[in-house]
Amino acid sequence: MNAQPTYVRPADVEDAISIKASLGPAGIYGCGLTAAQLGWGVKGPEQTIIDIAGLDLGSDVCLADSGSMVLAANAPLERLRLDPLISRQLPWFAEFLRYVGSTATRNQASLGGNLLWGAGDLEVLFAAVDAKLRFAGNGRAQSLGPTVSDQPEDLLISIIVPALQGQRIFVEKLGHRQAFSPSRVVVAGCVGRQSARLAVRLAGHPVATVETPWPMNWPLDDALFAGNAAPYLKSAAHNLLRGHLAQLAQRDMA
Ligand SMILES: Cc1cc2nc3c(=O)[nH]c(=O)nc-3n(C[C@H](O)[C@H](O)[C@H](O)COP(=O)(O)OP(=O)(O)OC[C@H]3O[C@@H](n4cnc5c(N)ncnc54)[C@H](O)[C@@H]3O)c2cc1C
Repeated sequence: MNAQPTYVRPADVEDAISIKASLGPAGIYGCGLTAAQLGWGVKGPEQTIIDIAGLDLGSDVCLADSGSMVLAANAPLERLRLDPLISRQLPWFAEFLRYVGSTATRNQASLGGNLLWGAGDLEVLFAAVDAKLRFAGNGRAQSLGPTVSDQPEDLLISIIVPALQGQRIFVEKLGHRQAFSPSRVVVAGCVGRQSARLAVRLAGHPVATVETPWPMNWPLDDALFAGNAAPYLKSAAHNLLRGHLAQLAQRDMA
């Protein structure tokens, strides 16, 4: 018989970290569990879930003096979508959240879970704006990328979106919803006066990000399109990006 509990609710951040340290790979942080449960069989999770949904990780949203926005990792997506500060400072984020799951899913699902799951749509958007993730413990803040979504062993506390004055941000996704599956293609960009940062995820591949001068030199950097991805996915991502970038270039010339 397995005596190990399958679910624990730590009292605070320190408690969560110490439970994780004692369990090692047998324990996993979980927040809304909407993504984690997709991988469970009928018997439920094989690891002990350390539920961080109720921990105090700071206010959902906070505007720092530097102009950057600090978002709590366990903030539910629907609460972020409706937050007046988000609507004012990051309207592109509030708008895109309408296309991330249903209201019911967003009420449960967290921002941190989306960014660490490995297939969340928001990972592409947050990579394009070069958001940083702050983890507990040594306080490291790191960019989004394959190493982050690899296997989260550390507790994610907050997400920092830098000040983005004058930057134009776009994001779009393609997917099918007969049954839930991760999006097939997500593209995003953050375009300034002299440079642009573009991010793409093709289904089953990690997010690819490139920096490019603006106005851009065509064609788009091959590094954005995973070499072994299906050609139709690459072509769809290319077309989505071309549409957004051409529109922005036209506006700049007007
Ligand atoms: C019906 C349905 C529709 C969905 N639609 C979409 C969609 O349109 N777009 C989309 O992107 N996703 C979608 N999802 C997937 C999922 O709901 C979201 O990605 C959600 O944001 C995950 O958040 P969560 O809090 O539920 O994560 P969880 O399931 O709790 O965790 C996901 C992963 O992140 C880790 N984790 C979570 N929080 C932390 C933390 N603070 N520190 C360290 N590790 C952590 C967990 O260990 C786990 O590996 C959908 C899911 C369902 C069931």
